[in-house]
Amino acid sequence: SVPEIGSPARTKAILSRYHLVAKKSLGQNFLSDLNILRNIVAAGDVSKQDNVIEIGPGIGALTEQIAKQARKVVAFEIDENLLPVLDDTLMDYDNVKIINQDILKANLPEVVKAEFEPDHPLKLVANLPYYITTPILMGVLQSTVSFDAIVVMMQAEVADRLVAEPGTKAYGSLSVVMQYRAHVEVAFPVPRTAFIPQPNVDSAIIRLTPREALPVEPYEDSALFKFVKGCFAHRRKSLWNNLQGIFGKQPEVRERIEKVLNEVGISRQLRPERLTLINFIELTNAFHNDGL
Ligand code: SAM
Repeated sequence: SVPEIGSPARTKAILSRYHLVAKKSLGQNFLSDLNILRNIVAAGDVSKQDNVIEIGPGIGALTEQIAKQARKVVAFEIDENLLPVLDDTLMDYDNVKIINQDILKANLPEVVKAEFEPDHPLKLVANLPYYITTPILMGVLQSTVSFDAIVVMMQAEVADRLVAEPGTKAYGSLSVVMQYRAHVEVAFPVPRTAFIPQPNVDSAIIRLTPREALPVEPYEDSALFKFVKGCFAHRRKSLWNNLQGIFGKQPEVRERIEKVLNEVGISRQLRPERLTLINFIELTNAFHNDGL
């Protein structure tokens, strides 16, 4: 029988048979290591109860491994040249549906409603196109669709930022926003040698799961995100400096900033990267209550 799509021999055969040249502009690097592909699906604990959304199936290597374990897979692929390839490579799987659409323009709630039977766990499993990792994750995490697990591959440097703790170099607005939305952890690293063609960065698998309730919630999510972005606008500068960038430098504004910092118990000399998620939430609410 034919080897699975993600074996190096089959990947090479598919690429040559269809005269495919990986498009750099679409982040096309095909993962070609069956152990890693299976471990990605295992990291999502995917079972026959689960409906799965995939982003960027490529030639179908990960799609095949998901299809073997899941109830149904719906995969968004922007590159129409890959449609006939996927038709062929995934021919044996009747639980796969490919949608030829830019994931950033997709209406996820509509697709979920149209394609999946309700009352099944919904998971997202994908080897992301790296040039749009952040917009994809922000879109997914802000959508009204709620996922029971998200397992995604991204470049290692971005993965480090997602899981970074306060006080570290990698900690920034992306860490705070993601950690607000979900519990974030690195499942395992993936070397660049696992891909055809090889990218010039290493990768990592990140797992996001719904987080526990926080002791304090922001009065509005978008206000928290805007505030966090503002605080990190100049990460080498103090919180005090960044807050004046957000609210203004007028003497009466500075007085009110100082008052709010005192209320919340945060020193104005701190660098923004010292603040925890809870600090950011408390400050967002306190500045809002003060009317700033
Ligand atoms: N899943 C395959 C694998 O693991 O080998 C391919 C992953 S490759 C890193 C990223 C895939 O995302 C490519 O197939 C690319 O064409 C697709 N892609 C790029 N931009 C996209 C977008 N905006 N919406 C949907 N798919 C996209």
